Amino acid sequence: MSANPRRSKDGPLGQARPRRKAPSLSRTRPPSGMSLEQWQIERRRQFGRAQDFRMTNAGDEPVFSEFLVTNPSSRRTYLVRIRGTEPGANVCSCPDFASNELGTCKHVEFVIGRLARGRKTAKLLREGFEPP
Ligand SMILES: [Zn+2]
Repeated sequence: MSANPRRSKDGPLGQARPRRKAPSLSRTRPPSGMSLEQWQIERRRQFGRAQDFRMTNAGDEPVFSEFLVTNPSSRRTYLVRIRGTEPGANVCSCPDFASNELGTCKHVEFVIGRLARGRKTAKLLREGFEPP
């Protein structure tokens, strides 16, 4: 890993902000060394995991299942099918997923983020999908 240039940025003290694992990515260009595609995937990953969507498991499996993901502000609900953690493994019914050709979207990344937080679901997620 290279040095993080954002570490030295001075901010006003005393401002409580939620802890983040990684600095936000630029919306206008990828960081050096990152492909356009990877940058677009990472942006959805960061954005999706920061969302406060509602999520309902519509299937029988705890992880490799279908999830209804609702954005409370837009009230739109999309169906996400989880089969793994890598881009291309999963499917979402949203227009971004249909057109971005990245194999992921903020809804997919939101669900993966939630599953990765639960002890049991994180273990299942790591073990991977086994087709029946
Ligand atoms: Zn989506």
